[in-house]
Amino acid sequence: MSVVLTNIGELVTNDLAQGAGSGGLGVVPDAAVVIEAGRIAWTGPASSAPAADVAVDLQGRCVLPGFVDSHSHTVFAGDRSAEFAARMTGEPYTGGGIATTVAATRAATEEALRARGQALVREMLAQGTTTVEIKSGYGQDVATEARMLRVARELTPETTFLGAHTVPAEYADDRAAYLHLVTGPMLAACAPHARWVDVFCEPAAPTAFDEDESRAVLAAGLRAGLLARVHGNQLSAGPGVRLAVEVGAASVDHCTHLSDADVDALAGSWAGTAPGTFATLLPAVEFSTRSPYPDARRLLAAGVPVALATDCNPGSGYSSSMPFVVALAVREMRMSPAEALWSATAGGAAALRRDDVGHLRVGARADLTVLDAPSHLYLAYRPGVPLVSQVWKDGARV
Ligand SMILES: [Zn+2]
Repeated sequence: MSVVLTNIGELVTNDLAQGAGSGGLGVVPDAAVVIEAGRIAWTGPASSAPAADVAVDLQGRCVLPGFVDSHSHTVFAGDRSAEFAARMTGEPYTGGGIATTVAATRAATEEALRARGQALVREMLAQGTTTVEIKSGYGQDVATEARMLRVARELTPETTFLGAHTVPAEYADDRAAYLHLVTGPMLAACAPHARWVDVFCEPAAPTAFDEDESRAVLAAGLRAGLLARVHGNQLSAGPGVRLAVEVGAASVDHCTHLSDADVDALAGSWAGTAPGTFATLLPAVEFSTRSPYPDARRLLAAGVPVALATDCNPGSGYSSSMPFVVALAVREMRMSPAEALWSATAGGAAALRRDDVGHLRVGARADLTVLDAPSHLYLAYRPGVPLVSQVWKDGARV
């Protein structure tokens, strides 16, 4: 059965062959989209749309590719709202609160983790996110890390083994033993459920990992057939970006504190024919920790591709909303509305090395977000407003 969505006031395709001059968004005004077998079969002006079995009149609304949230931690247990309140009333953020989530996640049943993860993914879907990446990292023991990833794999194909999130308290005096566990038995138990390996490379944080430790984690993951991504340069300048480029990571996430050499390394990673390393910015974390935002303009000026994601997690930023992230990127990081939307859709997809989502070219998955607004500008223009009126995933309205 084919479906035509018609009377679309503004269609964002992210297809450079369409809508020249729309900031890379491939905008088609007064458009239609034809969906067949869960894929995009046709896009263009509504006046020349081919016939379909079913027609849906969108009454001038804007249609976007579904958001691709390439960085989240949405499988966990416990509550850290009191920690947030303390931080907002003057306590500095050190990242130490993660032990609370680790203890609660270890104690949680698989059913409880599944229920929370399902609820958060539903919440994301309602806000237009049709692809999400989910990390482990709150187990920090073999059984719990594997349990987190089994649950995450039910929710998304984009699962990431992050056993090297922090060094748990019981290994504080023997970091080498924890590294041995992460790169050995834990990786072996988790790799079957994961597509990616990640590490929190932040030598300035005592419970995170230094350059050599991070390199060992990524190398072990790559040997196990996983693809690399890195948490880096969040709290201070450091080796995260350099290491991400060195190992060919698809993305280095946070990028809040960068040296000139880091920016050059990211830009240089795109010099060849193979895809380089994205800078994924997570401004909801800076918002929720009241920290300085990453310098998106510096990266864009250097030609570094930028993705935007939520980093939805119980500690440093518990927003699941890509529209909120787009609004922050525009207001606080001076990205244009077009740059922010591209980074939240096509950028997120490319940072996950996916070519079937994040755009609406013919053949793409029919993952669409319908805004109750005439254009994409309203995402940043009307922050905090529930503009998402319909979401379509794999060609079906959800
Ligand atoms: Zn994260």
